[in-house]
Amino acid sequence: MKKLTCKDLGGVCDEAFVGTFEEIGQKCRVHVMEAVQRGDAAHQAAAGKFMTASPMEQAEMMLEFKNRFDAAPDV
Ligand SMILES: [Zn+2]
Repeated sequence: MKKLTCKDLGGVCDEAFVGTFEEIGQKCRVHVMEAVQRGDAAHQAAAGKFMTASPMEQAEMMLEFKNRFDAAPDV
């Protein structure tokens, strides 16, 4: 298991998520959705950036997140 923060995944805060790559991705999505629903402008901007990215750009972001995951120390 590894630990990544919201920031590592294209977000804006230091909230940390622990698990496999898929688990962390799922936890981060839930965290961002909750923040968006709270009206958190910073997270809304981050979510909007991902939503409006092209499939190619999204794939590049995912690759970058995966690289960060692979580089993170085991917890
Ligand atoms: Zn966050």
